[in-house]
Parts: sequence; C-alpha cells; structure tokens
Amino acid sequence: MNTSDIIIVGGGVIGTATAYYLSKTGARVTLIDRQDVASGTSSRCDGNIVIYDMMPDQVLFARKAQDLFPGMADELGYDIKWKRRGCVLLFDTEEEIDHARRHVAAMLEKGQPYKYMDVKDVRADEPLVGDKIKGGVEVGCDGSLNPMFLAFGLMEGARRNGCRFVGNAPVIGIYRDGKGAVTGVRTERGDFHAPVVVDAAGPWSAQIAAMVDIHIKVEPRQGQLIVSERTGKIARRKISEFSYITTKILSDEYKRPVTWEMQEYGICFVFEPCEAGNFLIGSSRWFNGFDTRSNPHILKLMAQRAIEFFPCIKDARAIRSYAGLRPYSPDHYPIVSGTHVPGFYIATGHEGSGILYSLMTGTLMSQLITKAGETIIDPARWDFARFSQPQQGH
Ligand SMILES: Cc1cc2nc3c(=O)[nH]c(=O)nc-3n(C[C@H](O)[C@H](O)[C@H](O)COP(=O)(O)OP(=O)(O)OC[C@H]3O[C@@H](n4cnc5c(N)ncnc54)[C@H](O)[C@@H]3O)c2cc1C
Repeated sequence: MNTSDIIIVGGGVIGTATAYYLSKTGARVTLIDRQDVASGTSSRCDGNIVIYDMMPDQVLFARKAQDLFPGMADELGYDIKWKRRGCVLLFDTEEEIDHARRHVAAMLEKGQPYKYMDVKDVRADEPLVGDKIKGGVEVGCDGSLNPMFLAFGLMEGARRNGCRFVGNAPVIGIYRDGKGAVTGVRTERGDFHAPVVVDAAGPWSAQIAAMVDIHIKVEPRQGQLIVSERTGKIARRKISEFSYITTKILSDEYKRPVTWEMQEYGICFVFEPCEAGNFLIGSSRWFNGFDTRSNPHILKLMAQRAIEFFPCIKDARAIRSYAGLRPYSPDHYPIVSGTHVPGFYIATGHEGSGILYSLMTGTLMSQLITKAGETIIDPARWDFARFSQPQQGH
C-alpha cells in the first residue's frame, strides 16, 4: 500500500507541479509533506509571474516559463486567479533615464512588450505617484496569480491522476539499497517505498539531500511583506522600482541613493493591489536562518521606501505582515536535476522566482524522470553537476 513509482518530498508549488506532470504520464506518485500543501514559502510570498527583473539575455527563457500559465486554470479546472495586466517599473533618479531607454530598446529587440514612459505618461497611468518620480517602464506581458491556489489546483489535478498526498509526515530518513540507490523514505507516519525520490523541500531541501550525503548549499533568504487595510485606489496594477535592474546591470558603476540599511536588507519597493481592495508592500532580502518572524525595523524601512514612490501610502494602515523563506542557491539558478545517487532527484533553489518557474520545473522534472523525448529546456542549465566543483559563498 505504501509503494509507488515516485515519492516527492515537499508540497509547495515545485512539489505539486512535479506531482501534477508526473502523474499525468501515468506514474504512481506519492507526495509527502511534513504539514500540508502550500504550508511553506508558497503561502508566504507574492504571486507575480513576471519577466520585469530579467536581463535581455535571460528574458526569452523567463517568457517561456510565463507563457505556460494562460490556460492553466482551464487545464486544472481550478481558478488560480491568473491575470495579465502588465506592470510598471518606476525610477526616481536622472541617472536612470538613459539607462531605462537603453533597457527598453534591448527588450524590444528581443520582441518583448516593453515601453518607455516619461513622467507625463507615468502620471497619466498612475496619478498618485510622488513628485520625485522621473519616469518608468511598462512591461505589458507580466501577470499574477494566487500562489496557494496554484499549489491547491496542481494538487487537485495530480489527485485526479491518481497521486496520493500524505500530510503531517516529516521525512526523517531516506532508504538505500546495497548499491546506494534510493528505495524509499522514512517519515514520522511510517515508511514509503519507491525507486525514485524527488527533493522538492524548498528552503529545507539541503536537509533532505543531506540524508543521502549530498550537500547542496541552498539557504533560506527571508523576505517580508506588509498587508494594508482596504483603501481607495492607489495604483491600478503591479508597480516596482526600476533599480532592481539598474543595480544589476550597472553593478559597480551605479549605487542606489538609499540608506545603507535599505541596501543591507535589500529593500526594494514593490506594490501589489489585491482583489479585496487592499494591497501588499514588499520587499526585503535577508539571510537570517529559518526565522519567519516579521521584523518591525525592516517593515519600517519597507514602508519608508514605499512612501518615497507613493506618498499617499503614509495614510494607509497595515493590518498584518508576514515573512517567507526564499530557497536561495549559490549561483542564483535553480537546481532541477538527477544526481549521482541513483533514483535521487532535486528540484529546488528557485529563490524569488519559484512561482514563475513552477510549471517549467514540474514539466522538466517529469521529462527527466520518465526520459520522455526532448525536454522543455536544455537541462544542463539547471543541472546539479555544476556544483561538483567546490562553491564560493554568496
Ligand atoms: C516575500 C516573498 C515573495 C515572493 N514573491 C514571489 C513572486 O512574486 N513570484 C515568484 O515567482 N516567486 C516569489 N517568491 C519565491 C517563491 O515563493 C518560492 O521560490 C517558492 O514558493 C518555492 O517553492 P517550493 O515548493 O520550492 O518551496 P516551499 O513552498 O517552501 O515548499 C517546500 C515544502 O517542503 C516541506 N518540507 C520541508 N521539510 C520537509 C520534510 N522533512 N518532510 C516533508 N516535507 C518537508 C515544507 O513543509 C513545504 O511545504 C517569493 C518569496 C518570498 C519569500
């Protein structure tokens, strides 16, 4: 009864997507979580399915991942709240004007729906932006969804295909045969047997990999979010700050004019209007172990940054806040791959893009395990083998 073809450890968006695509092939899949579906980072995040933070050389790849979402609600028979309203990136320094123009030109060359906006365009689009704003960039294809509904919908789809879900069952060991191949897992609710085990435990994936003596340096990188009360309309769609990109591209040549603390905690303005009439404010990036408590000082810095872009936010009340742990890999790319341990696969390290890359990851993992023809992307890109050399720290 506890025997299947494939065991997946972790019921976040990565584990449920992998379960969905594998169960579609007819494989008998068991998905195990120490709590429930979407009880980790996939319920402590935003649901942005965006390419706006990509460089021109990455954008076609990210767009391929994004374009897997339209139609997914129908395929799953589950309303994942997918919407494609586009998003706007704002900048508040003169230095970024020229850079934004060049960035838009490079993206148009790649065929992506980018548009440069001068201050007048920005104000016509979002009348409540602050006086310091110098212009913006519109990315027309960006979208969003509800990440918990995505995980629930994928799980429902997988269940219909025969996948079994076992909750409240922390995996505490992995069984191997005399040749080292995996044969199953030990959980606090008993043993489960399968010749294939997929580690999709997100920020906890290093702990699962260590059970077969594989040491991956995936670390939790905390991010916090503020949830506002219902307000009048502040902005009609997702807004972010352009300096995500300027900081990336200009690297040493460009330093954001922000306090050292904002730099230290990776504070970047992100605004997400919600259907209920309230909004989310992000974002932060902090290595602080597995701590998911909100930190009032970081929340204050996030609010300060938000008010620089939309001064009216100072009058809104926060009703709650939460923090999640991004699974951070040392070279910023996910690991989606087999390993030198026969039957042991890894799907982790998606950091701040795990929702975007969930369907691509599930598809790739299913193709790698079933060895079914051409893969959706070149698997070398996310192969664990790149860590066979000793890695530097982050
Ligand atoms: C504030 C914030 C905002 C974000 N915004 C976005 C965004 O807008 N767009 C985007 O694409 N990405 C975003 N991300 C990133 C995204 O949320 C993650 O990349 C993604 O959720 C990771 O999914 P996962 O399935 O790998 O991990 P998780 O969702 O954490 O799932 C791992 C699961 O493994 C289980 N588990 C752990 N240990 C064990 C064990 N021993 N036995 C059994 N089960 C175990 C856990 O219970 C958990 O359910 C954001 C992240 C944060 C923190």
